[in-house]
Amino acid sequence: MAARRILVLGAGVVGVTTAYKLAAAGHEVAVIESENRAAMLTSFANAGLLAPAQGYAWASPSAPGLMLRSLWRGDQAIKLRPRASWRQWRWMLRFLRECTATRHTKNSAVTTSLCQFSQLHMNRITRETGVTYDSRDGGLMYIYRSAEGLASADRKAAMLRSQGIRLELMSSDDMVARDPGLAGLAAHAAGALYAPGDESGDAHLFTNALVEKAEEMGVAFHFGTRITRLVRRGDALIRVETDKGDFTADDYVLCAGVHSPDLVRHLGIDLPIWPVRGYSMTVPITDAAAAPRIGGVDYENLMAYCPMGDRLRVTATAEIAGYDRGFTEADFAPLLEKARPMFGHCADFSNPKYWVGLRPMTPHGAPIVSRSPVGNLWLNVGHGHLGWTMSGGCAAIIADLIDGRAPNFDVKGLQYDFT
Ligand SMILES: Cc1cc2nc3c(=O)[nH]c(=O)nc-3n(C[C@H](O)[C@H](O)[C@H](O)COP(=O)(O)OP(=O)(O)OC[C@H]3O[C@@H](n4cnc5c(N)ncnc54)[C@H](O)[C@@H]3O)c2cc1C
Repeated sequence: MAARRILVLGAGVVGVTTAYKLAAAGHEVAVIESENRAAMLTSFANAGLLAPAQGYAWASPSAPGLMLRSLWRGDQAIKLRPRASWRQWRWMLRFLRECTATRHTKNSAVTTSLCQFSQLHMNRITRETGVTYDSRDGGLMYIYRSAEGLASADRKAAMLRSQGIRLELMSSDDMVARDPGLAGLAAHAAGALYAPGDESGDAHLFTNALVEKAEEMGVAFHFGTRITRLVRRGDALIRVETDKGDFTADDYVLCAGVHSPDLVRHLGIDLPIWPVRGYSMTVPITDAAAAPRIGGVDYENLMAYCPMGDRLRVTATAEIAGYDRGFTEADFAPLLEKARPMFGHCADFSNPKYWVGLRPMTPHGAPIVSRSPVGNLWLNVGHGHLGWTMSGGCAAIIADLIDGRAPNFDVKGLQYDFT
């Protein structure tokens, strides 16, 4: 296909991987981003897990109960903070509709296979470019405090195993043998599911390193440039208006994370994406020999952890609360209370770097990676809790679609037509 001029809207991990794949396919690519660097919004300080073994959709038969109980209890995996916003309620109703066992299984199959597909592309991008991002292979550890929790997770894992995901059931001794950094936990955990194929790394470092490589390939990045309006004539987008002037292209790819719905609503495109808030804390590792070797999730404590170079990141919480990213130090007290006993022996929690991020969540958990009803506007949005994991695969799919090639992935579950 002849080279096209393509404008990517947003430079999070999804926008930058998209720009890279399009440039690699020979197109003339520019990227518009309101922040002064890439990956400053949701891709800034996420949990870092590249985790096909976490490919479950969040809408599940247990989710409605968790959300309801969260109205009076603080210890639920998904927390609902009702807002006077009909958009939130409409999204919630769609989410609840996805919570049947049948839909959960179907949706999880889509997200899991997309994560697997994406891992191949992320590894390919890393090989092609040589980008470094405090990455670790060697798997991830999914820890369970109670024997019942472990047994139930092992049963549920049949769904993932049937898709080829390796998940090894481990006693707490086996777990510590695999990751001696978890020695302090041996007496408090029933065991773990170990996913040898999962990986981790810093999405912010990855994205900015990839910006440099993309620039070398000719991609133009317009940072500090806020998109104010997309302008349509008939079936086509004709320009993007920004606070730094207008931009035009043959094709446009929307990758604006949680802000995507606002940018296209006036075009009649109704994206079912709502922000789900999470908390993240990064601290220096003080004793590398005693620190965890690989990342993981302490399930019943609802906390993810990830060594990233000489830092340790811990993250928690899924709050359906709206667009507010503000926080106080007190908001992090529950996370600190969980993290310090687990990692206080190897990391310094006296001055953590706090961060709050908003996951761009669709009700069914899969992103929307497709052509939009406006012919030359493409959508790569709604990657929810797995956007770091899914970004490489979604970028490859969009590049194939724009080039008129059939992607090497069944895109039925990634369509805009949301019913
Ligand atoms: C606490 C937490 C933990 C997570 N952990 C993991 C994990 O372990 N593994 C995993 O796979 N995923 C994880 N995620 C999810 C992952 O971080 C997201 O899915 C991913 O970062 C979304 O990337 P994005 O590029 O779509 O969005 P963003 O990173 O938000 O990028 C969108 C970009 O668009 C720009 N933009 C928006 N509007 C405009 C405008 N009007 N003009 C110009 N630019 C605009 C923004 O500034 C932004 O840079 C986590 C998320 C959170 C919050």
